[in-house]
Amino acid sequence: MQEKILTFLQCPECKGDIRINKIIEKKIINNKELLIAALLQCNGCNELFPIIDGIPRLLEKDKLMEFEKLKVVEYKKTDNKILIREEKELIKKEKYTLIEKKLRQLFKPENAVSFSMRNRIERDIDYRVFHSDKKEKFLETTKLYYHREMKSILEVGGGQGGTISCFKNYYQPDIVILIDIDSVMSEISQIRDPFINTIRADGINIPVKNSCIDFIITTATLEHIKKWKKCIQAVAF
Ligand SMILES: [Zn+2]
Repeated sequence: MQEKILTFLQCPECKGDIRINKIIEKKIINNKELLIAALLQCNGCNELFPIIDGIPRLLEKDKLMEFEKLKVVEYKKTDNKILIREEKELIKKEKYTLIEKKLRQLFKPENAVSFSMRNRIERDIDYRVFHSDKKEKFLETTKLYYHREMKSILEVGGGQGGTISCFKNYYQPDIVILIDIDSVMSEISQIRDPFINTIRADGINIPVKNSCIDFIITTATLEHIKKWKKCIQAVAF
């Protein structure tokens, strides 16, 4: 997560401002800093939220996973030294290899109950790895209807980041935020592009402040949300 997006964020519990409580680890890629491990804190209710593997977990307390809650405890105990690592951005081939590995761990094609099911899973993995960032069709539609500058963009339910990376490359917005509830898909989005600020958050309780984003996109998401009307209300802020 880039520190500059902090002013765009709000607490999922009370909508208060979010600040940094403690930084544990930073990464520098292409001379740009990323927060990899840190604690965020709400100015309103003082609730703490962890950044794990570069992904802030901005969810109400009962929606945090066990390992995320444990990270908060661990980070609180950590002393105040900041670990800084300088790394080169991975090349596309290295990214695709890592993404494929994660997807294979998640979908386990080797455990498929039939040959045809295994084939289906393999096709799905292939699509997700090599084709999910080819979403020019959405760009073509946007170019027809959107003629303003795009300084900030938010994707709700952006999964593994294919669509938003397409928009990022074309419009070059300064602020790029993706939210998704799925932990593994959020990790894949970070591998695809660490400068897509991926946040694990809920589509019906978006931790981004009102009226600060130029362009909001959501695709293939509403059908997965039980309270989809709440998501539309949240997106239409
Ligand atoms: Zn709060």
